[in-house]
Amino acid sequence: MRIGVPKEIKNHEYRVGLIPSSVRELVAHGHEVLVETHAGYGIGLDDEHYVAAGARIAPTADEVFATADMIVKVKEPQPVEIARLRKGQILFTYLHLAPDEPQTRGLMKSGCIAIAYETVTDAHGRLPLLAPMSEVAGRMSIQAGAHCLEKAQGGNGTLLGGVPGVAVGSVVILGGGVVGTNAARMAMGLEARVTVLDRSLHRLYELDMQFGPTLNTIYSTRDAIEEYVLTADLVIGAVLVPGAAAPKLVTREMVSRMKRGSVLVDVAIDQGGCFETSRPTTHAEPTYIVDDVVHYCVANMPGGVARTSTFALNNATLPFTLALADKGWRQALADDHHLMAGLNVHEGRVTYKAVAEAHGLDY
Ligand code: NAD
Repeated sequence: MRIGVPKEIKNHEYRVGLIPSSVRELVAHGHEVLVETHAGYGIGLDDEHYVAAGARIAPTADEVFATADMIVKVKEPQPVEIARLRKGQILFTYLHLAPDEPQTRGLMKSGCIAIAYETVTDAHGRLPLLAPMSEVAGRMSIQAGAHCLEKAQGGNGTLLGGVPGVAVGSVVILGGGVVGTNAARMAMGLEARVTVLDRSLHRLYELDMQFGPTLNTIYSTRDAIEEYVLTADLVIGAVLVPGAAAPKLVTREMVSRMKRGSVLVDVAIDQGGCFETSRPTTHAEPTYIVDDVVHYCVANMPGGVARTSTFALNNATLPFTLALADKGWRQALADDHHLMAGLNVHEGRVTYKAVAEAHGLDY
């Protein structure tokens, strides 16, 4: 099969669908890989690296789209890319179709076979191609939060780990899932005092077993949230209620009573945010201040560490990319119902229930 990797064209997107080591695996399986020139340039992956791995470099996106049997990307196709898709061509990438009717209709019209990373499942009922980005965002949330605590960013001037003889900073994490666990790990690494609140007792039990007494685990109630948030230096919003907007766990009134110069990092902002005062921000202008509390609400955190994110994503996608290339989409999907769960659009029809319902389409 011929696999095509176009350069991402969404604003400030530096990730790339395949890294050179993935190319090498595909080539070893007898496939041909066509990579648009400079596709990985922004994250230090040069054309020479791809050529050394066995890829051919295409001068334009047009050539990639026109000749590949399968396109492997990161972000949802932009209108100019949708226009290039062909009937029967496989598209394997993040799509997020439910809130995006124009894209959904564009993919239907193209006749392509669109498989979305975000709906592929695993044996534990989790979403294995979303998890790496939650790992990245969780770890990054502490790095971003620590920076925001500096005076020049509006913070209260606390060094999370303190120094000998000086109290450490207090980090409070709302939600102990993938984001929360990774945030806790980083905050503990910095030697801050760390508390995770979750409403799943099972999750708190697992965290307690995993990290032992250095991590404080607390059952999430209004009382507990208020108690911990009001004394925190850094609060991470990491809750998720599947299929629903994030619950507003921290009210505007609570924010007004937080310590002056404390920091809120709302990772759940992509689901609307879990602080009442949150609104989405960008890497170019990541923070704003409400009631002397610094808010960091970047909706696309992994894009800020595009190199790590690209490698993490490839680790998770490669087995599926190989299966699609080796067997063709029909057989690969028939053999693996978890990959089948990724199928969102098939030759003109929406094949994913939530997407069809969101746009009032036949399913
Ligand atoms: P997850 O499902 O692994 O974990 C969510 C946790 O929240 C669960 O343990 C759940 O029990 C807990 N929870 C739900 N309601 C709660 C409540 N009222 N109080 C306390 N805990 C509660 O999800 P995840 O992968 O960790 O993702 C968390 C959020 O981060 C999601 O909204 C996800 O979309 C978002 N995210 C954002 C970015 C970004 O760039 N901003 C990147 C990745 C993920």
